[in-house]
Amino acid sequence: MIAKNQVFEIEITGQTHEGLGVGRVDGMAVFVQGAIAGEKVVAKIIKVLKNYAVARIESFIEKSPDRTEPFCPVYKRCGGCNLQHMTYERTLQFKRQVVIDNLERIGGLEGIHVEPVIGMETPRRYRNKAQYPVGMGDNGPIAGFFAPRSHEIIQTEECGIQHPTSDLAKNTVLEFIRANRIPVYDELTHKGLIRHVVVKVGFATGEVMVILVSTSSIIPKKDKLVSLLKERIPGLASIVVNVNDKTGNVILGSKNITLYGKDTIEDKLGDLFFEISPLSFYQINPEQTLVLYNKAVEYAGLTGKETVFDLYCGIGTISLFAAGKAKKVIGVESVPEAVEAARRNAERNRINHAEFYCGNAEDVVPELYRQGMKADVVIVDPPRKGCDEVLLKTLIEMAPQRIVYVSCNPSTLARDMKVLHGSGYEPQKVQPVDMFPWTNHVECVVLMSKVKNQV
Ligand code: SAH
Repeated sequence: MIAKNQVFEIEITGQTHEGLGVGRVDGMAVFVQGAIAGEKVVAKIIKVLKNYAVARIESFIEKSPDRTEPFCPVYKRCGGCNLQHMTYERTLQFKRQVVIDNLERIGGLEGIHVEPVIGMETPRRYRNKAQYPVGMGDNGPIAGFFAPRSHEIIQTEECGIQHPTSDLAKNTVLEFIRANRIPVYDELTHKGLIRHVVVKVGFATGEVMVILVSTSSIIPKKDKLVSLLKERIPGLASIVVNVNDKTGNVILGSKNITLYGKDTIEDKLGDLFFEISPLSFYQINPEQTLVLYNKAVEYAGLTGKETVFDLYCGIGTISLFAAGKAKKVIGVESVPEAVEAARRNAERNRINHAEFYCGNAEDVVPELYRQGMKADVVIVDPPRKGCDEVLLKTLIEMAPQRIVYVSCNPSTLARDMKVLHGSGYEPQKVQPVDMFPWTNHVECVVLMSKVKNQV
């Protein structure tokens, strides 16, 4: 029997999909934080559960050649990144294996070929959106990131994966909060004002939006804040107060008040401009987004004659990328504000053969199909929970030549591919893209082609 605080020599034989090392003691699986497959460590058991235990490294007997020094000083305490102890190359190999494991085990796609993960040339400072929780530290207000599986705030001046302007904006807001004794929010008592500082940066345009998430729309001494941010933040185009007076973990509320500048900022991806607002979804890594979208359009195999459905289209980014090569694009998205932004984005880019429908893809697509509308190519980019069964069933009936599946979650991707594979679609290409370097997340683009009629 394993007990807490015991120390063992453990050979690390595998890696969980969260990036923990896996070994065995007395036949029981032990997950070792920060260990890499191939290593031999001395580790102390910190938790014992029914089927597994969790351990922490005390010392190394054999180190992996792929072990490296994390570039972030708070890596061990912060919940943001979890692969910084590996070389970048090793993280890409790890992510590819995660995709293979899911497609084989959940998707039943034994022996499927998965392309090497497309990584970044310089995997630093890649995020265009930062969300810093604000709270009370031992010596006054702090802002940073949550520790893993916790709401303890880890204070950081700088974060190596955020745009430097995001850090600067956060530090400036914190300085304002401290100097003017603005009350910060306390989750336990639900008292106080400032909950989060959210910063969005248009990498290509340089436009910056600073959002203060607050329990009240009234920010004391707000004029001081505006002039401080104007003085310090290059490219500042918008300051917004987002009101969130609800308890719980959702960061943003629904009400926005513009304190300074514009209500939205703009970014450019490739040749296209996109409007970014406080609430709308926009991919967080612009360099890799371009890689991802170009892959999706390449896999769509467009010749100019196709009708393309872009489902879960957000603000219409993929729709407009595909529009240049398609006869017609139909985007479907459930959030009304995103659909309105998609329409404005089409207009802004002078694209007039893209139409957008608001509603759940699983409701809208069956309705369009009933009305006789059909797609030659369907692109889907669902949230983590994947596609709804009703949608997949409708797509199978509609029988487009190609389905391009963009996914941020390999397990639901695998589940949905299994359904399509059982109904006449063959996976042709699986391309993972590293959208979230140093985290265990991986994005994939998959091409499935119709090879036989439904059985
Ligand atoms: N393709 C876009 C957005 C992808 S994120 C981009 O690359 O920017 C997934 C989007 O699906 C979000 O905008 C979310 O609002 C939307 N969504 C979630 N559930 C949905 C559903 N059932 N039907 C349609 N859209 C949905």
